[in-house]
Amino acid sequence: MVQENKNKQMDAMAKTAPSQNQKQFGSAASADSQTNLCMQEWQRVRSRLRAELGEATFNSWFQSLTATKPNNKRVILHAPTPFIGSWIETHYLPRILNHWKSENKIVKRIEIMARDHMPQTEPAPIVRPQPVYRPRSKPVFETHSRDDIGAPLNPHYTFDNFITGKSNELAHAAARRVAEVGEVVFNPLFLYGGVGLGKTHLMHAIAWEIRRSTPDRRVLYVSAEKFMYHFVRAVRFKDTMTFKQQFREVDVLMVDDIQFIAGKESTQEEFFHTFNTLFDKNHQVIISADRSPSDLEDIGDRICSRLGCGLVADIHPTDYELRLGILQSKADNLLRNNKEIAVTEDVLEFLARRISSNVRDLEGALRRIIASASFNSKLITIEMAKSELRDLLRTSAKQVTVEEIQRIVADYYNLRMSEMLSTRRAQIIARPRQIAMYLCKQLTMLSLPEIGRKFGGRDHTTVIHAVNRIQELCQTDATINEDVASLRRRLEA
Ligand code: ADP
Ligand code: MG
Repeated sequence: MVQENKNKQMDAMAKTAPSQNQKQFGSAASADSQTNLCMQEWQRVRSRLRAELGEATFNSWFQSLTATKPNNKRVILHAPTPFIGSWIETHYLPRILNHWKSENKIVKRIEIMARDHMPQTEPAPIVRPQPVYRPRSKPVFETHSRDDIGAPLNPHYTFDNFITGKSNELAHAAARRVAEVGEVVFNPLFLYGGVGLGKTHLMHAIAWEIRRSTPDRRVLYVSAEKFMYHFVRAVRFKDTMTFKQQFREVDVLMVDDIQFIAGKESTQEEFFHTFNTLFDKNHQVIISADRSPSDLEDIGDRICSRLGCGLVADIHPTDYELRLGILQSKADNLLRNNKEIAVTEDVLEFLARRISSNVRDLEGALRRIIASASFNSKLITIEMAKSELRDLLRTSAKQVTVEEIQRIVADYYNLRMSEMLSTRRAQIIARPRQIAMYLCKQLTMLSLPEIGRKFGGRDHTTVIHAVNRIQELCQTDATINEDVASLRRRLEA
C-alpha cells in the first residue's frame, strides 16, 4: 500500500516534471528578453546622452557604465568606480531618468552602484591636512627632492588654497580624488581650460598632497616645455636611456600645458611612448592643456584619443561669486602678517565685478593695490583701485573676442570648435552657432560681414538671420532665453 502510494507520487512527479522544466525554461527566457530589452533601452539612452552632452563628456562618464534591470520599474547603473558613480548621481541622474522614461515609461527609478570588483566603500574620510607650508613673506619655491628634472612646486598652490565654484568643481574633485586614492581611478586625468584658471595650481596641489600622504610614491611634475627641453638635451648628449628611466619610472607623471608639444614630432613620439609605458604599468598620468583633447591640433590622433580615454575635466571661466571667494582668500593670505592694511568688501566686490579675464589677473590686481597702499601709506578705496588699475580695467572692459565667444558657446553646448565653424545645418550645431553669432553682434564692435568671416567665411545675411532668429527665440523659448543669459553672464563676468 505504502509502495503503491509512493509509485503514484513518482508518477505524479514524472508527469509534472516537464511542465516544471518548461516553467523554469520560460522564466529564463523571460529573464533573457528582459536583459535584452534593458540593453536596447540603455543603448538608446546612451545615444541620447551622447548627442546631448557631446563626445568628451559622454566618454568621461558614461562610456564604461552598464545597466541591469532587476524589475520593470527599476534600473541599476553599474559604475566602474565610486567616484564616477557619485558624480553621475549628483549631476546626471534626473537627466538619465527622463531619457529612460521617454524610452520606456514604466521605469520609475534609477540607482547607481559601483561595480563589485571595485572598492565598495569610499576610502576613509581624509583628515584635512594641516597646511604643511606656512605662509612666507615671499614665495619660496621648493624643488622636488628626488627628481631634480621636475619643476619646482609652488608652496601656495595647495588644495587648501584652492577655492571651488561651479566652474572648477569637476576638475577640483577629480584632482583631489587622484591625489587621495592610492589606486589609479582614471587614467589619464586630463585637465583643460583657459589661461590663468588654476590648472597648474591643481597639479601642484596633487603633487603636494601625494608627497604628504604617501611619500613613497614618486611624483614628477614638468611643463611640456621642460619635457621637450630634457628630451632634446638627452638626444644631443646621447643619453636617452637616462631620460627614459627618469620619466618612465615614476608612479605619477604630470605634464603641464601639453599643447606646447603640438607640431613637435619627435617630442610627441617620445611623450607617446612615455605615456604608454606608464599607462600599461597602471601608473597615474595627469595632463593639462588649454583646450580639450579633440581640439588639440597638430598632436597626432593616436595621442589625442589616448589623452581623452581617462577622465577629461574642464575648467570654465570663473563667475562673480567664485572670483569674490578667491579674492577674499587671497586677501586673507596676503594680509595675514600685515595688520596695517585692510581691503574692504566693497573693493573686493569691485575687483570681482570688473576683472573677469582670469584668476591670475585678478590676483595681480589685488597684489598691486596692496603693494601701492603699503608703499604710499594710502587707504584702499574703490577710487584708489580704479586709478591704480587703469590699464587693466581698460583692457578688461573690451575683453570679449569672437574666438572667446565661439569657444565658450561651443563648450557650453559640448561642441567642437570645428563643428562651430562648419557648414553643418543640424539644429544641434546650427542653433549654438546662431547664438554665438548673436552674442558676437551684442558683445563685440565687429560688423556683420566681419562676424560672418570669422564663422568660416559666411555671408553677412546669414549673420543677420541668426541675430533675428535668436532675438525672436529669446522672446518665445524660455530655455534659449536662459542659455543666452547664462552665456552672456559668463562672457561679461
Ligand atoms: P593656469 O595654469 O590654468 O594658467 P594657474 O594655475 O597658474 O592657471 O593659476 C593662475 C593663478 O590663479 C595662480 O596664482 C592660482 O593660485 C590662482 N588661481 C586660479 N584658480 C584659483 C582658485 N580656484 N582658487 C585660488 N586660486 C586660484
Ligand atoms: Mg599653467
